[in-house]
Amino acid sequence: MNEAAEALARAAAAGIHCLAIPTPFQVGTVNTYLIEDEPLTLLDSGPNSGTALDALESAIAGHGHRIEDLELIIVSHQHMDHLGLVSILARRSGAQVAALDALAPWAARYDEGMEADDSFAASVMTEHGIPEDIRLALLAVSQSYRNWGASATVTQPLAPGSDLKLRDRTLRVLHRPGHSPSDTIFHDAQRRIVLGADHLIGHISSNPLISRPLAAPLDVPPPERPHALETYMSSLRATRAMEDVELILPGHGDPVTDHVTLIDERFRMHARRADKIHRLLDEQPLTAFEIAQSLWGTVAVTQAYLTLSEVLGHADLLIADGRIAEQREDGVVRFAAAS
Ligand SMILES: [Zn+2]
Repeated sequence: MNEAAEALARAAAAGIHCLAIPTPFQVGTVNTYLIEDEPLTLLDSGPNSGTALDALESAIAGHGHRIEDLELIIVSHQHMDHLGLVSILARRSGAQVAALDALAPWAARYDEGMEADDSFAASVMTEHGIPEDIRLALLAVSQSYRNWGASATVTQPLAPGSDLKLRDRTLRVLHRPGHSPSDTIFHDAQRRIVLGADHLIGHISSNPLISRPLAAPLDVPPPERPHALETYMSSLRATRAMEDVELILPGHGDPVTDHVTLIDERFRMHARRADKIHRLLDEQPLTAFEIAQSLWGTVAVTQAYLTLSEVLGHADLLIADGRIAEQREDGVVRFAAAS
């Protein structure tokens, strides 16, 4: 048995079954997890589509259960591939819905939240030199994707640091923002297993997307852009320091069996990327969009917000270290090497 199969078998022996559900996104399938306990629990749902619902239904049937049998649905974070089907599943089963307390108001007003997130993203893109045609194209894509998610009513808000008790296990609720503001992981210290969702993924580095803070009012843009990568790295440090962890079950791809080594690799990667950006700025001041273009070429156009978030995250690290400075002229920000 290879390492991934072994890890999944270990999870299954603990009553946790990985169900990979198709998504229309580049990331491929999303991992949801059926936890055979009392209450019968599902972590994450897959996107809001008939294809995903069919796949989930037959995967659950493969373990001898029906959607109607679900009693608790846990949401790991606000992204649509994790949240999309929650309300359909809850309606069909009558299951309770548990999620981070701070996510509950956002999930209840999903459409307004997404609208406000989009206009926030547009203002960040303008400020960092993304031309209007690219910005409008991206917003159109985001709007066409919106219905892969849906609003959800959280009936069991979870406080960070609290315990979610099932009959046979206790899951410690840990807030790990960075990839999104609501990232929550669930730690079963007794079994040394973490349900980690998108906080730490083995085969790809989780994107620290710049997102509107959950608590921000819907009608007023937040005064300052959040420092997503710095937030993410401090979340990674907290996870790295965790004991009683042998297995992290992620939201995409294979289980993570050595989280300390993987997190150290991520830190090295981010340090290398920050150095590279610093070298570019040694030659001349650049906008974040210009930096993204010179690092990733056309991907900086097709994935403009993602790559912009990457650059800004690293710029934040360099600013914090005093290696670069931010200059603002006519509403556009340029970064320059500190003299
Ligand atoms: Zn995500």
